[in-house]
Amino acid sequence: MHGFVIVLLPEDTIRQDKIKLLMKIEEHVYPYKRFYHKGDDRPCRCTEHGTSPESNCEDCQGTGRTRRNPKGKLDYWLLGGRFDGYIRTGKTDPEKSIGNFLLEFVYGQTAVNGLLFHEDEHDDVDTNVVSAAQINISVLKENWITPDVGWVEDIFTVTDDPREHYKGYWAVGLDYHR
Ligand SMILES: [Zn+2]
Repeated sequence: MHGFVIVLLPEDTIRQDKIKLLMKIEEHVYPYKRFYHKGDDRPCRCTEHGTSPESNCEDCQGTGRTRRNPKGKLDYWLLGGRFDGYIRTGKTDPEKSIGNFLLEFVYGQTAVNGLLFHEDEHDDVDTNVVSAAQINISVLKENWITPDVGWVEDIFTVTDDPREHYKGYWAVGLDYHR
């Protein structure tokens, strides 16, 4: 299943270097990945009250450590993708179903520094990164990753006017898979 999320990046984010931009986006999305990277496992929530791990725990299988993120929302994301240009125009094109520049941290697979890059189409920076003030009004109802609240499903619980509230930030449109 695919969804759309708006990620806000600080005003001083460099957009000319695409790899650096994608790394910056990943930094903001990582807290919402369903699995932490290899070597970045955490104490399992079954141990959170100082208790010993549960032997039949689904998350850690009794080890007390897990890569499963309890706040996880997505496996991977694409800049634009199925929602290429949506953040700017408020329109999607069902033809844009596959391909894309993919930045993916793969669970259970080996990749260079945990990163896989595939360059394709529907991933232009200019098309999918706008200043927050320019987000198309029909897109405001989508998911957001904000600097102050984190993952937000309904931005209007945070502010009545998100474009004004986050003025000065860059807004990035991502297609994510969960
Ligand atoms: Zn556990």
